[in-house]
Amino acid sequence: MSAMRVVVRVGRDSAVTPVDFGGGAPVLIAGPCAVEDLPMMRECAGAARIAGAGLLRGGAFKPRTSPHSFQGLGAEGLSILSEVRAETGLPVVTEVMSCSQIGPALEAVDMLQVGARNMHNFTLLSELGRSGAPVLLKRGFMATVEEWLLAAEYVLTEGNSRVVLCERGIRTFEPWTRNTLDLSAVPLARSRSGLPVIVDPCHATGSRDLVGPMCHAALACGADGLMLEIHPDPARARSDGDQSLGFEDFRALAADLAETAAFFCSHRQGG
Ligand code: PEP
Ligand code: MN
Repeated sequence: MSAMRVVVRVGRDSAVTPVDFGGGAPVLIAGPCAVEDLPMMRECAGAARIAGAGLLRGGAFKPRTSPHSFQGLGAEGLSILSEVRAETGLPVVTEVMSCSQIGPALEAVDMLQVGARNMHNFTLLSELGRSGAPVLLKRGFMATVEEWLLAAEYVLTEGNSRVVLCERGIRTFEPWTRNTLDLSAVPLARSRSGLPVIVDPCHATGSRDLVGPMCHAALACGADGLMLEIHPDPARARSDGDQSLGFEDFRALAADLAETAAFFCSHRQGG
């Protein structure tokens, strides 16, 4: 049985152009893995806007596997995001890892991401529910679809229905990709929850060569959007450079994806 479809609008004030997830047209989210400094964030925002992205991403608080890796700029990262948001009019999504980060993040950005490592952080999910802000909830890499949807319920039961789900790959026995992109979870989670579901092919594959094909496949199976990591110079990225697209590749891919999206949208309306 299919649940009623939810449309999630993102854009907290008139400084940005709001964007709808689940409204029919897939939403493109683009930006670096981590906010590194203001100039690179400006460059990424420019590239995202030109390519037709509806939302800008950038991590200020980074949940790194190793405590010795770059952890993000924290509060300084938030103020960079806020500045670039005002300059471009693009709404912004950033990750929060703890309840204390919610307030400061919501003064800077429009949507809060819960990363794969925090999908089971129920205190954080409930607090995000009470915040009323749009939430981008990534699937934990060891979580079943049912566990993922139950995590979403923690936000929903606080009266916040503004949840967008993000499939970002799960851990399997396959070592040649960073994770295994579970595309069957997209139509499954969409129909069971009614929530918009987007796909993050960068964290799913770990490798930029695989990002394009997985983007097209995600649109073909009904994804409500895509989240891509981009960087002015991926080889020098402070995190996730191997899976980040340079601007040239990104622009070309975004143009191809617009055609794929148009094809599948008209196909669904006709069929
Ligand atoms: C991210 O989006 O930068 C991120 C850390 O993703 P995930 O939580 O899916 O690993
Ligand atoms: Mn990343």
